[in-house]
Amino acid sequence: MSHSNTGSSARPAPRMEAEHYFRFRCAPGLDCFTQCCRDVNIVLTPYDLLRLKNALAIDSNEFIEKYAIVLSKENRLIPLVFLKMREDDKQCPFVTEQGCTVYENRPWACRMFPLDAAEDGTFYLITDSSRCKGLDEPMTRQIGEWLVEQGVVPYDEMNQLLTTITAPLKAQNLDIDNPDIAKMIFMCLYNLDKFRDFIFKSSFLSRFELDPLRIEKIKRSDLELLKFAFDWIKFGIFGEKLFKVKQPASDVKKA
Ligand code: SF4
Ligand code: SF4
Repeated sequence: MSHSNTGSSARPAPRMEAEHYFRFRCAPGLDCFTQCCRDVNIVLTPYDLLRLKNALAIDSNEFIEKYAIVLSKENRLIPLVFLKMREDDKQCPFVTEQGCTVYENRPWACRMFPLDAAEDGTFYLITDSSRCKGLDEPMTRQIGEWLVEQGVVPYDEMNQLLTTITAPLKAQNLDIDNPDIAKMIFMCLYNLDKFRDFIFKSSFLSRFELDPLRIEKIKRSDLELLKFAFDWIKFGIFGEKLFKVKQPASDVKKA
């Protein structure tokens, strides 16, 4: 679960498919308006963080310091990153009485609410109409269409790419306890501005053969940079041949 309020029902919620309909309409004026943006656990994906830090026009390091809680666990190469609620009133730092101030760039979990996605591709409600009054509204929506409207698609695409790293990590149960590797992975996923510096301000470009067009793209686009970061992790951790080491000039001469 990626967006959870405190308190939950014991019975498992029924599963629904994308073509199923559910009753829902969220709008200012409902008693519960913005209540779901309070005291809530929101896991941030790397793409969530990218969108938010750009919306706020700050760099990823500043975002992590101000708005994130990073939870590292033993044997877990990728830590969990949560959106930090305000200390005084436990509200999301981006909520006002009028609603979400980062609405266009709100995280995946906020777009999904009051639904969550199960690993098998089905959906289920993570709250009920006692707390989320929108579930009592007469309007019915088809889940698939509603998700498209919520702008979930690009988030799903990036999260799908992320699972090409997290799934084999889970399956292979790799015994990596080198803190430098963990730091590198965190930087690649969550500290993109630092990762960009790593590429352009270290000897990186002189060590690897890269398509000049791709270099230009990652210079300008955080999205391309994140995709590049995924490849870099796969190269480093799983040995996928996605990068070619440059041959030193002396070797080329010999050859
Ligand atoms: S609790 Fe439900 S209806 Fe109320 S503001 Fe949140 S999403 Fe909308
Ligand atoms: S990011 Fe926006 S939608 Fe999500 S909890 Fe904060 S205010 Fe609510």
